[in-house]
Amino acid sequence: MLRVLLWIGIFFSLSFPAIAGNLMEEKRVEMVRLQIARRGVEDAAVLKAMRVVPRHLFVPNYLIDEAYQDYPLPIGYGQTISQPYIVALMTELIKPQAGHRVLEIGTGSGYQAAVLAEIVKKVFTVEIIPELGEKAKKRLWELGYKNVSVRVADGYNGWPEEAPFDAIVVTAAADHIPPPLIAQLKEGGKMVIPVGSPFLVQNLILVEKKQGRVTTRNILPVRFVPLTRGK
Ligand code: SAH
Repeated sequence: MLRVLLWIGIFFSLSFPAIAGNLMEEKRVEMVRLQIARRGVEDAAVLKAMRVVPRHLFVPNYLIDEAYQDYPLPIGYGQTISQPYIVALMTELIKPQAGHRVLEIGTGSGYQAAVLAEIVKKVFTVEIIPELGEKAKKRLWELGYKNVSVRVADGYNGWPEEAPFDAIVVTAAADHIPPPLIAQLKEGGKMVIPVGSPFLVQNLILVEKKQGRVTTRNILPVRFVPLTRGK
């Protein structure tokens, strides 16, 4: 009897993570269908990445049940992980290709970096809050994202040693487009960045560099935490 109970116990403890994992996968499939594809995101690689990256492992434990909901969530230090749709939209806007090297400013949880890392060759991501940067670095490594480099620094300055980049994704709002980021964008490259006053409504802007000229296009109003400056 005791032995049977023991075996039942072992069976459930071994299968529980798999069951929980399947449940999360189902939630992701629904998230992509209802929140992302329905709103017009079409890039197959982006949709696939959003179905694969385990977003619930990028949020604090107490928010795991809300990981696949249609809104941003707090990640500590007054920062947030963006709404899934916004992550997908920003990723689609830069037209990511398998061979690309992409810079992200504002690592936060590391989620956007993981989504990019599913699609492109190499992701460089900069975070100004050391605790968040270190945590994201460890998390990304443990999840097997070996093609992401995390740096703790003021991302206003980009990552000059690794420039130029095929694309840049800025996930904190500035009141202007940082000139160093424009300088570090490749010819033909795209940058997506929320621009506007901190804590008020900002505009998501798509910046393109063509034949040395910089063009900008308003995409939609958004709300991001501010891009803060290092001392
Ligand atoms: N992309 C993140 C969410 C970003 S929240 C994710 O997927 O979870 C914005 C992040 O930008 C915060 O972590 C904030 O600390 C960081 N940040 C703000 N100003 C910055 C700066 N000047 N350089 C780098 N990171 C900055």
